Amino acid sequence: MLRVGILSLQGDFAAHARLVDRFGGQPSEVRTAKDLAVVEALILPGGESSAMLRLMAPEKLDERINDRIRAGMAVLATCAGVILLARKVEPDQSSLGLLDVDVARNAYGRQLHSSIESLRLDSRLGSPDEMEGVFIRAPRITRVGKGVTVLAWRDRDPVLVTSGRVLAATFHPELTTESRVHKYFLHLVGCHG
Ligand code: GLN
Repeated sequence: MLRVGILSLQGDFAAHARLVDRFGGQPSEVRTAKDLAVVEALILPGGESSAMLRLMAPEKLDERINDRIRAGMAVLATCAGVILLARKVEPDQSSLGLLDVDVARNAYGRQLHSSIESLRLDSRLGSPDEMEGVFIRAPRITRVGKGVTVLAWRDRDPVLVTSGRVLAATFHPELTTESRVHKYFLHLVGCHG
């Protein structure tokens, strides 16, 4: 069974683990370099990207994750995870730069302005072409690079994008009963639960 790591330094990794299990992967919590070495795909959950960067530093997890993704490991990033992968972050913050998008942190408002929005989906996500998305202090994707495909929109904003083996959602697909984002990712990595 394919081992799908979930970066578990902070954030809601348990909900992701349940979905990995449901779609035929073996969820595996990643806190150390050793944990990372044994997984074949990775989920970067939501949380606070600045805190996550700090927590990754002692084990050089940011560099190691960078190397693994560059070597072809598939990754699902949600919310703060997208900020970690982005090319450019506003206000300025360091990032891995692996996904050719720019993001503005907290651009839809603070915690108080968390909301459930109706999203429009590309046909690759199946039907219906609408789905709810939970936004919690979410980043806004302000630029999408040439090699990046948009798979879902909130009004005109891209909120689910993919490039190579990276799938990135600015909302929280683990918090709704709708599980198509995880299903799409698990299929991408070869699981068929
Ligand atoms: N606002 C957070 C950040 O900047 C992201 C919020 C989230 O992941 N729900 O990292």
